[in-house]
Amino acid sequence: MSLDAFITKETIEGDDDGPLAGRTVAVKDNISTEGVRTTCGSAMLEEYVPPYDATVVERLKAAGATVVGKTNMDEFGMGTTTETSAFGPTKNPVDESRVPGGSSGGSAAAVAAGEADLALGSDTGGSIRCPAAFCGVVGIKPTYGLVSRYGLVAYANSLEQIGPLAPTVESAAELLEVVAGPDERDATTREAGADADYASAADGDVEGLTIGVPTELIEGADERVVETFEDALADLEAQGAETHEVSLPSVERAVQAYYVIAMSEASSNLARFDGVRYGPETESEGNWNEAFAQVREEGFGDEVKRRILLGTYALSAGYHDKYYAKAQDARAWLKRDFDEALAEADVLASPTMPVLPFELGESLDDPLQMYLADANTVPVNLANLPAISVPAGEADGLPVGLQLIGGAFDERTIVRAASAVE
Ligand code: GLN
Repeated sequence: MSLDAFITKETIEGDDDGPLAGRTVAVKDNISTEGVRTTCGSAMLEEYVPPYDATVVERLKAAGATVVGKTNMDEFGMGTTTETSAFGPTKNPVDESRVPGGSSGGSAAAVAAGEADLALGSDTGGSIRCPAAFCGVVGIKPTYGLVSRYGLVAYANSLEQIGPLAPTVESAAELLEVVAGPDERDATTREAGADADYASAADGDVEGLTIGVPTELIEGADERVVETFEDALADLEAQGAETHEVSLPSVERAVQAYYVIAMSEASSNLARFDGVRYGPETESEGNWNEAFAQVREEGFGDEVKRRILLGTYALSAGYHDKYYAKAQDARAWLKRDFDEALAEADVLASPTMPVLPFELGESLDDPLQMYLADANTVPVNLANLPAISVPAGEADGLPVGLQLIGGAFDERTIVRAASAVE
């Protein structure tokens, strides 16, 4: 039975040679591909065919990769299970009664099932690392500014990055190398890290590496997850790494701050889907406001509507200081906590997800439960840091991911540490 990892299966050939020659790459469906429809998992963009390639797609082609299709995702990246897709859910290849995680669930499932050698996802609050953890593959959320967002359909600009999903740390690092580096069409990209050789860092050598373990990211996690995580840490110690506890006190506000900021940015970004610039034309006989409302009523799913409403509320006069400004304060405190913790350790380690993969349908009626599952991933996006999820083992036959968080533009160190976990 098909996993439904792809929304559109269409091949885009790259150049004849290059570092990814002969390799197939699946691309998340919020990354623009010239001439190939790009839906963002939404009925709103069911027919949308971009007239240009995202920078990362240009770089894939120039590196000789073959794009094999566009992968399923939560609508506009809003979700943790790939079930908010207007095209139906993707199944987890490890256990088809479970979700693959999200929002880049199609990309992770495609790699885990061997339907593509490599994949690109995007991570606003965990959307690469969560599905990597749930499907038992590797995923990297790069430092904010390492990878161009030109051609990525925006959900929450200040938080998100495109990054690789792959079967091994080394192959994820190879794909990162191809897509990383400054782009004049994305002013938030930086020179730092552009020329780094990430794949060569996957040498498995953790002798003398110091690993901080934030206590707040273990409290509240499922016992089976914690046990697998601790076994993996013990294994790193046996290989010469040193571990100690650290604290990120502001992390207790991270989920709240993340959702206020992400929904606020989303409410503004999604205003462009009005049936005139984007979205289906309406048959409405009414005035412009009525036509606009009708397109959005029909084109958006429930989760997207919920976020547009809450984000608009958080930004409105009278509430802006109460919610949005406070969330920005929490973000600043969290960055400071990370700076302090990373002054005492080379990398920080936690379970990627505090839970095992949900059963299909289990979390759909409970958005809060879904938001809380992001507790360990969203702090990293708020602090704009790099993180990798690497398979740490299994609990009850289901994959558990270990997350390693590094200093800004220090992807080489998280790649090195992760390669010792494999
Ligand atoms: N689950 C988070 C959200 O729904 C993260 C999504 C993402 O990283 N795109 O916002």
